[in-house]
Amino acid sequence: MARSIVSTQSKISKKVFFCAFNRSLNTAASSPAAAFTAAATSPPPPIDLTDSPATPTVDFTDTRTLFGSLSTSELLRAAANLHVAAIGPVVDVGMRVMNSKLMDVEVIRDVVLGTVKHTFYRHFCAGEDDAAVAKTVRRLHDAGLRSMLDYALEYADDEASCDRNLDGFLRTIEATRSLPPGSASFVVTKVSAICPLRLLERVSDLLRWQQKNPSFNLPWKLKTLPIFSESSPLYHTLEQPKPLTHEEEKSLQMSHERLMKICQSCVEANVPLAIDAEHTKVQPAIDYFTYSAAIIHNKDHNPIVYGTIQAYLKDAKDRLLLVTKEAAKMKVPLGIKLVRGAYMSSESKLASSLGFESPIHNTIQDTHFCYNTCASFLLDNIAKGSSGAILATHNVESGKLAASKAYEIGIGKMKQKLEFAQLYGMSEALSFGLRNAGFQVSKYMPFGPVDMVMPYLLRRAEENRGLLSASNLDRQLMRKELGRRMKEYFR
Ligand SMILES: Cc1cc2nc3c(=O)[nH]c(=O)nc-3n(C[C@H](O)[C@H](O)[C@H](O)COP(=O)(O)OP(=O)(O)OC[C@H]3O[C@@H](n4cnc5c(N)ncnc54)[C@H](O)[C@@H]3O)c2cc1C
Repeated sequence: MARSIVSTQSKISKKVFFCAFNRSLNTAASSPAAAFTAAATSPPPPIDLTDSPATPTVDFTDTRTLFGSLSTSELLRAAANLHVAAIGPVVDVGMRVMNSKLMDVEVIRDVVLGTVKHTFYRHFCAGEDDAAVAKTVRRLHDAGLRSMLDYALEYADDEASCDRNLDGFLRTIEATRSLPPGSASFVVTKVSAICPLRLLERVSDLLRWQQKNPSFNLPWKLKTLPIFSESSPLYHTLEQPKPLTHEEEKSLQMSHERLMKICQSCVEANVPLAIDAEHTKVQPAIDYFTYSAAIIHNKDHNPIVYGTIQAYLKDAKDRLLLVTKEAAKMKVPLGIKLVRGAYMSSESKLASSLGFESPIHNTIQDTHFCYNTCASFLLDNIAKGSSGAILATHNVESGKLAASKAYEIGIGKMKQKLEFAQLYGMSEALSFGLRNAGFQVSKYMPFGPVDMVMPYLLRRAEENRGLLSASNLDRQLMRKELGRRMKEYFR
């Protein structure tokens, strides 16, 4: 896992935080604050980890049960961070400073990173090093949630960075071996961190050209699953691309080997791998890598490699149908993570700059419809056979719809390969609601040193402005629970 320096100050604050957390479980409180914390969280709700059938409803009315596994100090901190993150101008100013030249001035950089570290970083990230991440994973595990470990690397430009990133992913997989069984649900990887971005663009161009002209020969191409459908836009590639040079082929081979090492390590550690989806310019190459790895490693009813489908794309449903059909024909158990998609503004900008219509659904209702239809299709497939799905969403309606369909068709937890997932620090009410309804729920947890995770935090702020203000439900319910605890203490 990531090696990094944890400052003494951070160690102390973590100690204080964990003391407060432990104290909240201790009925013999020694101070009014501790007594308030203890009164507020006892008794913790029973967390049923047996394979009982799920209840059909995701209930947000009983905030005591919903947030029972969070201490008052955790609730207060979460509510405060979400409140600040939902104030548009604060996010705007913060982003402007972090993207500006001011960050080159050491003092300013230290102050900004220090502030981010003790606020947003602490709220949205699992920690800087192995020890911190392991603590977070265990804490979530005790609360009945699982963790998707995301060593938060952004894209790589050259082979040396790809090799360094590979080491980081391998260390993450290795670290899952010492965690409580089942607490790490997935290890996450980004293909753009182990294959140079320029090569992903070249391979995507070549794959698109072959889709337009099936006789176009790609000598390096491995066995894979369908990457495009009839409805897939191919506007990124308007001219016939040059074949890969010898150097590029070598680099492709090295990138493929890196992914194979990651997959093999996941097989040995018995933890599945979730491969993130990125922007459409490089997504064909990412799907190519993902599906060719899935053919090799997804065996014996056990999908080890999960690809990602972005439901905001107009061709998402068609691609999902095609890939499912072909995988079934080849007897490859398919693993799919379903998301709405996080690159909305850049996708629309790129398409319009090339004079084409956006690949993203024209209305948000179309995206919602596509997400819910794909989720329903994935649930049917889980019930029928050996495929697995991660329904990654903060959308309460989608979560509830999928939960009630899963209940209807008898998908219980543990034995079935269904995972609901939300980003760490987001949609706590939905995560706990789904957990209480009897489903497996994971938090997607980016980790790593603050400056390394900064692009992730910026991306979250920039691309999910709607999402941050949509933390409304969480804030409302947290306020309600804090009020209830306060009343209980003063009663
Ligand atoms: C566990 C997990 C893993 C993820 N992995 C990935 C990944 O690999 N790749 C990736 O791209 N993203 C990923 N995401 C982010 C995800 O794609 C979304 O950005 C985020 O989850 C918001 O969608 P939602 O389902 O939570 O829905 P909501 O909370 O309902 O969010 C809806 C958002 O969708 C956007 N939107 C989509 N379509 C439209 C449209 N047609 N018109 C207007 N707005 C629209 C809006 O910005 C709106 O804010 C992941 C998210 C999670 C929780």
